[in-house]
Amino acid sequence: MNIILNGASGSGKGSMAGFLVRDFGLVHISTGDLFREQIAKQTPLGKKVESYVSTGKWVPDEVTIEVLIDRMQQPDCAKGVILDGFPRTLNQAIELDKVLNVDLVIAIEVTDEIVQTRLGGRYMCRDCGTIHSTRWDKIDKCKKCGGIDLYQRDDDKAEFIQKRLENFKLNNSEILDFYRAKNKLFVVQDKIENTPADTYALVKDTVAKL
Ligand code: AMP
Repeated sequence: MNIILNGASGSGKGSMAGFLVRDFGLVHISTGDLFREQIAKQTPLGKKVESYVSTGKWVPDEVTIEVLIDRMQQPDCAKGVILDGFPRTLNQAIELDKVLNVDLVIAIEVTDEIVQTRLGGRYMCRDCGTIHSTRWDKIDKCKKCGGIDLYQRDDDKAEFIQKRLENFKLNNSEILDFYRAKNKLFVVQDKIENTPADTYALVKDTVAKL
């Protein structure tokens, strides 16, 4: 089973992925996480993409597609994958279609206000990458590994959030049209008062029927 999580940064794709991994044993692949790992290790790829990622600009399609395909070829992905943050352009969706049978695209719709609030309060664990929110979590130490270095991503700073949102909106409607035409699209509305578990409850049964 292969699932795409679609939604603006801050729409809760990462949290949704966590529930899907737990319940369906799929592998969560976030292209943003793959890039951040490479940047942390300062590999040639990491150095190449760093200026894009740190300022909220998108990495060129050919680099992104190659990184994703490489990750999907690892043996752990045989059970199925949850793609988070990919595709972000129609071209990426078309290329993905050539190499992966996508069963469902879950599009999480959120308002700009929700995105601004969530990204502004998002802190990541430097050791294991777990996402924390000042709304639900304490940020003195990581709730998963106990690490004490929780940080705010450079691209979550206010000046970059609006740019990422605009970029997302510019490309996303044609991506949704692409999957709607294939009958793969399932849209859920997220609300400011919803916890990640509330939003997951809206999609769980649909995934279980795949
Ligand atoms: P994310 O963690 O999904 O918000 O992604 C963080 C950053 O990684 C983005 O702002 C882009 O710079 C880069 N990135 C992640 N996925 C993609 C993609 N599918 N296409 C282009 N750039 C991407």
